[in-house]
Amino acid sequence: MDFNKWLQDKFKFDSFRFPQKEIIEKSLSGLPLLALMPTGAGKSLTYQFAASLAGGNELVLVISPLIALMQDQTNRAREYGIEATFINSSLSGEQKQQRMQQIAEGQYKLIFVAPERFQKPEFWSCLEKRKIKLFVVDEAHCISLWGHDFRPDYFKLQNYRERLGNPTLLALTATATPDVQNDIAKQFGLKLPDDLILGGLERPNLSLNFFDIYGEEDKNEKLLEVLAEKKGQSGIIYFSLIQTLENFSRFLQSKKIDHVKYHGDLKPDQRKRNQNDFLKGKSSLILATPAFGLGIDKPDIRFVSHYEIPSSIEAYFQEVGRAGRDGQTSWGYFLYDQDDLSIQMQFLTWAYPEAAFIEKVFDLIKTRYDIVSVQGFDYLREQMVFKNRKDFRVNAAVSILTRWGCLEENDETPFGYKVLRDPTPEDFKLEDQNVLKKEHQKKLLSLMQFVKNDQECRLLQVYKYFNHHVDKVCGICDVCAGS
Ligand code: ADP
Ligand code: MG
Repeated sequence: MDFNKWLQDKFKFDSFRFPQKEIIEKSLSGLPLLALMPTGAGKSLTYQFAASLAGGNELVLVISPLIALMQDQTNRAREYGIEATFINSSLSGEQKQQRMQQIAEGQYKLIFVAPERFQKPEFWSCLEKRKIKLFVVDEAHCISLWGHDFRPDYFKLQNYRERLGNPTLLALTATATPDVQNDIAKQFGLKLPDDLILGGLERPNLSLNFFDIYGEEDKNEKLLEVLAEKKGQSGIIYFSLIQTLENFSRFLQSKKIDHVKYHGDLKPDQRKRNQNDFLKGKSSLILATPAFGLGIDKPDIRFVSHYEIPSSIEAYFQEVGRAGRDGQTSWGYFLYDQDDLSIQMQFLTWAYPEAAFIEKVFDLIKTRYDIVSVQGFDYLREQMVFKNRKDFRVNAAVSILTRWGCLEENDETPFGYKVLRDPTPEDFKLEDQNVLKKEHQKKLLSLMQFVKNDQECRLLQVYKYFNHHVDKVCGICDVCAGS
């Protein structure tokens, strides 16, 4: 069939974006795939397209952790005339019953569910009446401990797929770390690199530059040069620590250089205002922590600078990749000071607390809930004896316990969490914080090797790290330009 014509007729798009067509062709011919495309690049179209071609009893099943987006995703598919629906916890028991009945009777070509849905026997009995044309795992990085958003329920998806008679798999994600790729492949029995499609990784218009710097003064001076050169153009400067960001902000103020700030200590409405000022071009420079940039769409960012080292090559590339979305040449300036490494090492120690620490935090929450529910993190921190205000192990422990299902977010108390169950030895085994910490230390090490390797095109080094094969050097990084 003519896919381009179908795209135009049914979806009203002129052409496919890379690599939508390859994904669709392979999926429809029954090849299991892991496909990576950046956020906003159009992953949904790939399964919508398959659903639009589902005939008879066929069904495209999309598993997604994003319950809040399912209604929206369903509506969008319906706009293309695809019979779509979703089943999740936001529906009443009656509504769920009704939809499952309809699915069993052959209604709908596209359905969205969260992985927990498979725990319900009723869901199985309705699915068993249908032929699964495509088993789509959206946000597939959630299956991996090395991803940034691990969901234990994703571990069981391959079992479910087998039980459904091994339908064709399409695993989709925007987050492309090699560890995560391998993990997804292993769990779904994919072969890399054959079963992998990497989309949108190549950024030939980015000129990546690295500077060996000693101390804050040198950094500030270097950035003044950059800012003078890029005057009036949009840029982001990334920091790991709010304190460093604030210091640099004061420095810029003393030089009368206009800028806005974005970090976690600002009030949400202030943060939002600053972000908007930057996005609308009212302010051309923003000083930010890594939280800034997720989901933002500003095509004309001309430079991104790293004042402190990020945690990994993937974090670095994601951040510097916010420059030059419009395809115009854009610059990355990485200021490397060896001492910054210790900050990242300290971060890792805090982000992956020891099992005994997690247990102690849980016990405190459980046994002193009367106090904890009111005084929250302040009390916990006090009890865990912290001299260091920046130590965020308690927060890390609470978010780990929440991920395990031992705590649950709950707005009824100032603390914001309630106790569901005790952590088990399996929890600690499944997500060994020491192992995670070591893996993340390795990522940091890879980043260091990358920064220090001034013998090979910077972009080629990044592509290699992502298992992406490109031969042609960029010609514009510090290595290629020979500076
Ligand atoms: P993500 O990859 O983040 O899941 P989406 O699937 O939500 O992204 O798509 C982002 C936007 O891209 C949507 O508004 C969609 O309509 C648009 N889009 C998808 N494919 C194409 C295409 N081939 N041409 C133009 N726009 C497209
Ligand atoms: Mg998506």
